[in-house]
Formats: sequence, C-alpha cells, structure tokens
Amino acid sequence: MTAALAAAAGAVGFSHSSLATPTQANSAVNLAALSMGDGQLSELTTLRIERRNLATRDSSRVALTSVEKTKKQASADRTGKARAAKLEATRALTNKRAIALAKAKAQIDQAQKNVRESATRCEMMLSNYRITATYGMGGTRWARSHTGTDFAAPMGTSIRSVMKGEVVSADWAGAYGRQVRVRHEDGTETWYNHMSQFDVRVGETVYAGDKVGEVGSSGNSTGPHLHFEVRPGGGEPINPMPWLRNHCGLNP
Ligand SMILES: [Zn+2]
Repeated sequence: MTAALAAAAGAVGFSHSSLATPTQANSAVNLAALSMGDGQLSELTTLRIERRNLATRDSSRVALTSVEKTKKQASADRTGKARAAKLEATRALTNKRAIALAKAKAQIDQAQKNVRESATRCEMMLSNYRITATYGMGGTRWARSHTGTDFAAPMGTSIRSVMKGEVVSADWAGAYGRQVRVRHEDGTETWYNHMSQFDVRVGETVYAGDKVGEVGSSGNSTGPHLHFEVRPGGGEPINPMPWLRNHCGLNP
C-alpha cells in the first residue's frame, strides 16, 4: 500500500489495520483466541469475531474502491481545471491579439483616411484623355483667348475633383454648359465644364479623386471633352498646366 493511499484511507475514516489482508486478519483472531487460553473463548465468539472481521474486510474493500474513485475524480478534476485554465489563457491571448489587430487596423484606416482627406493631395481629373487645346490659345473658337485646358475623353468618362474642396456651384453656365466649381482650402477654384451630368451638390465636400460628374459636350462645345479651369481666389483664370505641376506634381 502506498503512503498516499494510506493517508487517503485515513482521511475517509478507516484505520490502517482495517486494510489488512484476510490472512493477516485471521491470524490476528487466532492469536487473540490463543492468548485468552483454555477454551475460554467459545466457538460462538470465534464465529462472531470472524463475522465482524469479514464485515470489516468488506467495508475496507468498499472504502478502497471509494478512495480510488475519489482519487480518480480528483485527478480528473485537476486535469479538467488545467484544461479550462489553458483554454481560458488561449482565449485571453486570442482576445488580446484581436484587440491589438483591431487597434492596428483602426490606425491604418485613420492614416488612409488622413491621406484621402488631405487638403494637398491631388488626383488627375480624368484617367484617359487627350489634350486638344491649351490655355491662352486664340482663334475663332473662343471669344477671347482660351481660359483653360481641354481634355478630350469619351462621353460619360468620370470627371474627378483634382483636390479636396467644397462644391460652390453645380449648374448650367451658358457657354460652359453643365459646370461644377470646387473651392479648395487656399481659395483657388477649379471649374469642370461641358459635363453631360453632375454627381455633386452645392455645399458638398469632395476629396481628391471624388467623381463630380461625367464628360459631355454641353454648352459651347464641338465634341465631348473637359474644359478645365483654375481660378485663384475665384478670380481670373490662370494656366492650369503650371498650377497642376506646382500644386500637384501632375504633368498631364
Ligand atoms: Zn476649352
């Protein structure tokens, strides 16, 4: 018998001797009978002792089974608790990682949002175009010299705001046809003309690359194109090309 088992047996109320083997127990009874001497011990008494011994052995066996069950249960409980603790630790780590990941993602989203909403970022107004007229050109096509740059593109091509700004006009504008004006943070306005349709409303904030309308040939126009103007402070037009280069690093 191991010390642990003995301790367990003691703990549940069985003495060490009660766990003796049947042979040992019988010897003890016989020894007791001998020590009493001279047949003082009747057969009846011997039977009674043996019966009691037998009962003790039986209860010992029950106790043993019970102790083992308790031990197994305790072991299973410990294993269960260890597993639960491990699972909880894994769960906590997963949670921690998820939180860190969400935080990193939020930071990236914020950085992207900051870039997207930057007042100085620029996007080209059209993805595909061909320059058909430059600023300052004279001739019969214009009442005075040409006030902007013409970018020919297929009808319906998306026109995008070159920079962040506020839509200050989205209306029909005579010779300009359907026109959108965007005022940028430094007060410069960019005008998008001859559109087939608008996609913005007055007061709306647009960011660089946001669609403001589509290429058309409305107003004084001979074919689908974007007549693009740049007007510092909303005043007289300037040549869009150096402005695009200096403000946007764009060389259309
Ligand atoms: Zn033009």
